[in-house]
Amino acid sequence: MPEVYLLLGGNLGDRTLYLQQARESIVEQVGPINLASSLYETAAWGKTDQPSFLNQVLKIETDLSPEEVLQTINSIELELGRKRHEHWGARVIDIDILFYDELVQQTQRLTIPHPQLHLRRFTLMPLHEIAPVLVHPGLQQSITALLENCPDKLEVKRYKA
Ligand code: AMP
Repeated sequence: MPEVYLLLGGNLGDRTLYLQQARESIVEQVGPINLASSLYETAAWGKTDQPSFLNQVLKIETDLSPEEVLQTINSIELELGRKRHEHWGARVIDIDILFYDELVQQTQRLTIPHPQLHLRRFTLMPLHEIAPVLVHPGLQQSITALLENCPDKLEVKRYKA
């Protein structure tokens, strides 16, 4: 079965609860979680009035196609947003596809591997925890190497609830 790495993130409301609900929906609608990173916290710099972000990376097994995974995670984002009364439809959770097996594809709707993943420390840190030797199929570098060379120096801390 194809293996997919997903990045979850959110900075609104009860962040750990939304991450938990997202994981439950992912298990039901995308497939079982084989590995889950710790939660990591990143300050939303520039804007001091914005709460900091929590991020997590999951390794999932799925029988869905990449496009079906995208549709499903988009509907999970909407579904969780709708449960939030103050702000109808707000995205309390953002879910990105980082890798889908060794696939390299770029269409209007979907770029895999995720085009920003090697530029963002908040993605590389949790990814490195669960997949340090995984090789980026486009850049042909391990996650360890990508993290070492990452230009983003924003502090990313392991989150203790
Ligand atoms: P965002 O606002 O960052 O969540 O972007 C969501 C949109 O980005 C989706 O509706 C997709 O069409 C597009 N997209 C392109 N590549 C990816 C990817 N690897 N993972 C998730 N969304 C993607």
